[in-house]
Amino acid sequence: MGISEAVDDVRSRLNAAADRSGRDPGAVRLIAVTKLVDASRVRDCIAAGITDIGENRVQEARAKREDITVPVFWHLLGHLQSNKTAPAAQLFDAIHSIDDVRTAQALAEHRHNDRDPIAALIQVDLTQIPGRHGLREIETFEMVRSVAGLPGVHLMGLMTVAPPVSDPEEARPYFIRLRQLRDAVEHRTGWPLPHLSMGMSDDFEVAVEEGATMVRIGRALFGARP
Ligand SMILES: *Cc1c(COP(=O)(O)O)cnc(C)c1O
Repeated sequence: MGISEAVDDVRSRLNAAADRSGRDPGAVRLIAVTKLVDASRVRDCIAAGITDIGENRVQEARAKREDITVPVFWHLLGHLQSNKTAPAAQLFDAIHSIDDVRTAQALAEHRHNDRDPIAALIQVDLTQIPGRHGLREIETFEMVRSVAGLPGVHLMGLMTVAPPVSDPEEARPYFIRLRQLRDAVEHRTGWPLPHLSMGMSDDFEVAVEEGATMVRIGRALFGARP
């Protein structure tokens, strides 16, 4: 399958999942995850209609951006080290991996004020798999209060990575929990969190059924990574 067939295939599966759950397919953003994918293939996927690019590392994104001149929306999905907040604040339009206050504050400080605020999502880990980044549910309330309203940062929602599963149905409870957590945090803090970044190649249809507004897809578009 070429890249444009893969984009069409993922898009139609995404649309079908939205239809099944009575949602507007236009309310789900398809982010192509291009870590370890070279710039020429990234350009091909943009030519095939992709408008959102997700990268895991600041360094790799910086190198690739120089080769990609068409305007697209750049998302940082991976953990942001504190010594990379300055370049990240310039390179990206959205950061999905906020899990500490100081990183959010540093992003706010480094975001140039002639730009729109950087979109921010708080990463929540619902798996308790050792080594994973992200907050526990209980920590999310306080984080939202701390990040909401920072100048230069627009807090828009929550992000999670489901555990690796053999049947996508096993990921569904995690997506339901993220949505319910979002509802609870919105209710308690009064801060609107319209976005849920959840769903990857193996489980994005279930995530869409459960309310994802951003899905992050790598292998289903580009094949297995080296
Ligand atoms: C790599 C990655 C993805 C994409 O994973 P695929 O299984 O290739 O779709 C999505 N989100 C994050 C945070 C990732 O690191």
